Amino acid sequence: MMRKKDFERVFSKERITKLIDEFGAIGADPNGGVTRLAFSSYDIKAREKIIRIMENELGLKVRIDPWGNIIGRREGKLNNAASLMTGSHLDSVRNGGKFDGPAGVLGAVEAIRALNELKIKTFHPLELVVFTAEEPNDFGISTVGSRGMVGKLSKEELLNIKNNEGFSILDAIKKIGGDPDRFHEGVRKPGEIKAFIEIHIEQMPYLEKEKKDIGIVEGITGIHRAKVIIHGVAKHAGTTPMNERQDALVAAAHLIKTLNKLASTEKNTVATVGQISVKPNSINIIPSETSLDLEVRSYHKSAIKKILEDFYNEMSLIGKVYGVKTSIKDTYHTEPTTFSPYIREKIKQACDILGFSYLNLVSMAGHDANHIATIADTGMIFIPSHKGLSHCPKEWTDPIYLVKGAKVLAQSLLILDQEN
Ligand SMILES: [Zn+2]
Repeated sequence: MMRKKDFERVFSKERITKLIDEFGAIGADPNGGVTRLAFSSYDIKAREKIIRIMENELGLKVRIDPWGNIIGRREGKLNNAASLMTGSHLDSVRNGGKFDGPAGVLGAVEAIRALNELKIKTFHPLELVVFTAEEPNDFGISTVGSRGMVGKLSKEELLNIKNNEGFSILDAIKKIGGDPDRFHEGVRKPGEIKAFIEIHIEQMPYLEKEKKDIGIVEGITGIHRAKVIIHGVAKHAGTTPMNERQDALVAAAHLIKTLNKLASTEKNTVATVGQISVKPNSINIIPSETSLDLEVRSYHKSAIKKILEDFYNEMSLIGKVYGVKTSIKDTYHTEPTTFSPYIREKIKQACDILGFSYLNLVSMAGHDANHIATIADTGMIFIPSHKGLSHCPKEWTDPIYLVKGAKVLAQSLLILDQEN
């Protein structure tokens, strides 16, 4: 199992850097960054390129499943054995970076290439997946491929989802080679996948700050979103005395500060009001209505619950203080995910074998792995993000860590392959 020396020989920082740059050029924005939205012509170009690499350079048997996921398979020595799966996504957000997604796909390419060069034949088949539409896109829906693969999405749910041009997401999935009429055939059964491991950039500053090579992800944050509406009264901004106002925006400001304060005292927890609208939005009229879109993220269910309870309390209090009426409606909710301790242990063993330092982390962003975790033992390998920046042109990961991540992936897969 001692692969450290072998790995030195076959992994290449230059090769993986070149690939990151080549994919980063597909949909590159003129002033830096990448816009490669799912189903766009750039996304399709990137998909075609990865299929060529998987087939011609890695010798994988490639198919596109009904959800449009690209799946490359490397057979194992055992017939009918469950597969060891890895992968990530190639689509990006608008004006995002070139590492979010590609680091995982190209890290997996590098890992499989290394196994090929070392002529290692695994017992279990290996599958490299490029998931469809991981990021939010023109259709306003994310993690399409991974949710589809685990049976969490249906054709009915997608039927009325269209982009601004009126193009349906079902047609978009067809355009990339999927087949909505056969969605059910793309759902993987429990037991079919022995394990799933995704390499991803950390998107947080902790690994760099702590000078660690690898993040072993303990789990993924839960997310709660809600819309708050505050009703005040529109009046002349000049002639209305300060003590006779029912200002919906002042009440909103109070609530925004409250939420910020509530989240600051909890561990692995953040909260944001990222969207706000004001009516009538005029310089000489006291605001009559404000709407706030708020989001609470926490790895701890109890923290989300407590923050929301305290926030509701504050909402009822400010009604009296500011003379406004408030209402709140939940718009989205996902529970936190805890990854398999078994997989985390294997990733840790891989780090130890390779002599890499590591940190246990909670991911505050969602990932495809979140969904695959519902049908298979799942883990994630994080690699450092410079200054924690992501979803922006300045997103950057030192290529040294791209290689370290790929090595840990290969080593983890080899350890898992030895076990039943
Ligand atoms: Zn991502």
